[in-house]
Amino acid sequence: MRVIVAGGGIVGLTSAIALHKAGIEAVVYEQAPEIRAAGAGLGIWANAMAVFDKLGIGEQLRSIAKPTEMYFRDPSGKFIDPPGFSKDDHRYLLAQRPELNALLAKTVGRDNIRLGSRLVGYAESDAGVTVRFADGSAADADLLVGADGAYSAVRSQLVPGSDAIVHEGHHAWRSIVAPPEGVTVDESVIVLGEQRTRGGFVPTVDGTVYWLINQFGSSGPTGTPKEQALERAAFLDTTGWNRALPALIESTPDDNILYNQIMLVPPLSRWVSNRVALVGDAAHALSPHITAGASLGVEDALLLARLLVSAEGLPGALAAYQRDRLPHYAKVDELSKRVEDSATPEEFATNYVAFSHWMLTR
Ligand SMILES: Cc1cc2nc3c(=O)[nH]c(=O)nc-3n(C[C@H](O)[C@H](O)[C@H](O)COP(=O)(O)OP(=O)(O)OC[C@H]3O[C@@H](n4cnc5c(N)ncnc54)[C@H](O)[C@@H]3O)c2cc1C
Repeated sequence: MRVIVAGGGIVGLTSAIALHKAGIEAVVYEQAPEIRAAGAGLGIWANAMAVFDKLGIGEQLRSIAKPTEMYFRDPSGKFIDPPGFSKDDHRYLLAQRPELNALLAKTVGRDNIRLGSRLVGYAESDAGVTVRFADGSAADADLLVGADGAYSAVRSQLVPGSDAIVHEGHHAWRSIVAPPEGVTVDESVIVLGEQRTRGGFVPTVDGTVYWLINQFGSSGPTGTPKEQALERAAFLDTTGWNRALPALIESTPDDNILYNQIMLVPPLSRWVSNRVALVGDAAHALSPHITAGASLGVEDALLLARLLVSAEGLPGALAAYQRDRLPHYAKVDELSKRVEDSATPEEFATNYVAFSHWMLTR
């Protein structure tokens, strides 16, 4: 079987690794001229590490990431520790996205990646699927895996009318920076603040710091990205205990601050056809308040590869994949919404850990 994976992000690259591991030929077609990663830090939860361990790259990944814990504080700096959850519900690894994607791309192998290849459409038949690219070229395969992110061209053809939608009022700012003189960051600080703002910072493995700010219900941001982030950082500190966060933001060049209007993929009626399957954000771009879209997405990759070798024929494997994924993500959406709708920081923390506990133990 020959597979085309459209998209060389974390989930597309992981899909290719899982397919290779299952003995299936797979080539990644990425639109960008190089494998790069939009974003700064990435929290990798234990469910994703279990996938990477099964694919044989867990140890390499651990060597470029930092073990850390997600404990929330209220805006006065007080820890919120919802009862009934173990330390394991809070543990994750903090990776830097470019290093992570570089490791995944190296594992896929340069010969199995075609750069500068933007998929613009596909045609499927009983005999196979032909994928068309923006430069006029085409490639044939038995299966097309759409791992082309929230704005997926594969999804727009597979499920017409499924364009990514604006998560109204939800904005995010983030960067990675070396701590400025006089600022020491030796622990992670994540705050559930006022005005439905969340954020803080996490030390990375190389001594730099990942800072992030998110806000629900935000009015349209004005000013430079730095001014926008600083305005919201004030909601995370009501008593002056958290001076490091504004100092980190101040010391970040504006060009290095990544700002996003959050986009979501609406629930889909289907994830597959007879020759096409969606994985990762292409199928389920989630709100990042659960910081788990990628951790969940790599599970899609492993499941799909396993079903392709264990289920009866290609259509049977794809149908089994969809049967598993649709209810699974309906549950993710339900738990995620509960976190989003929380009225207080305490309720948010409780619902958040309930989500991560479900993700890690189901
Ligand atoms: C602010 C924020 C913070 C987050 N934090 C976390 C976190 O801590 N932990 C976590 O698990 N998740 C987190 N997420 C979610 C995570 O970023 C995504 O779930 C993950 O990056 C999705 O990976 P992907 O490979 O599916 O898609 P993407 O990373 O979007 O990759 C898609 C790839 O496809 C390529 N592509 C697009 N269109 C085409 C085309 N037509 N042809 C060819 N190639 C194409 C793109 O160039 C890109 O390389 C966060 C998200 C946000 C917005």
